[in-house]
Amino acid sequence: AGTQRLRGRSHRLRWLGGRDPLTGLANRRRLMDRVEGRASGPQGFTGGVLMIDVDHFKRINDEHGHAAGDAVLAAVARRLRQALAEPVALCRWGGEEFLAVLPDAALARLPDLLARVMGQVADEPVLAAGVALEVRLSVGAVAFPLAGEAAPVSWDTALVRADLALYTAKALGRDQAVILREVQADSEARRRVLATDFAEARGQGLVAWTAVPRQSGVAVNESRKLA
Ligand code: GH3
Ligand code: MG
Ligand code: MG
Repeated sequence: AGTQRLRGRSHRLRWLGGRDPLTGLANRRRLMDRVEGRASGPQGFTGGVLMIDVDHFKRINDEHGHAAGDAVLAAVARRLRQALAEPVALCRWGGEEFLAVLPDAALARLPDLLARVMGQVADEPVLAAGVALEVRLSVGAVAFPLAGEAAPVSWDTALVRADLALYTAKALGRDQAVILREVQADSEARRRVLATDFAEARGQGLVAWTAVPRQSGVAVNESRKLA
């Protein structure tokens, strides 16, 4: 029990130190520290935000156990880190969600990047507990400055827009990325709908988006972990 407690304590300390112990990625707070400065100009936040969510992750836990779920999360994190060569920041946002902030230079070819990243994470099943587990992602993507957005854009608004894009990717059937191209945020009422009711925002036609399918055949070439 003593060892158990110690292990729990060191996990907690690593978490407090800004890293998620399961995946080794930055945690949410550490990402915030890195990103804060990007929202200080007259435009507000600039750059790209990717909200990345594992599809039907609960099923993996339910059918293969929590340890298999953990193995999948660790593998997804490793593959994301390889696929997103040089993000401004990449973190485990919470649960089975990851968040990446991309530099301006990565935004010109965002559809290609997204198709490739989804392929690199989902092409190869994850081996856990002797079983090959299929992994799929939905990704919400948005780049700022964003057409129709009232400036300056706060980091919180950037996150809400990325969430809206992710919601749309799920609603369209998962296993794809959705890039938000434009919002109609020109009145208080519309801004409220955009922030609080994604289904209604879609229904009112307040969002324009592009869906990007996963591109196969570009899997990460990754060796086994050394002992
Ligand atoms: P969707 O396609 O809509 O995203 O469905 P989902 O099943 O992926 O999403 P949902 O939010 O219903 O379930 C997420 C599950 O992730 C619930 C929770 O128990 C599990 N989870 C969260 N953190 C961890 C973790 O660290 N390890 C494991 N094994 N499971 C986790
Ligand atoms: Mg989720
Ligand atoms: Mg999920």
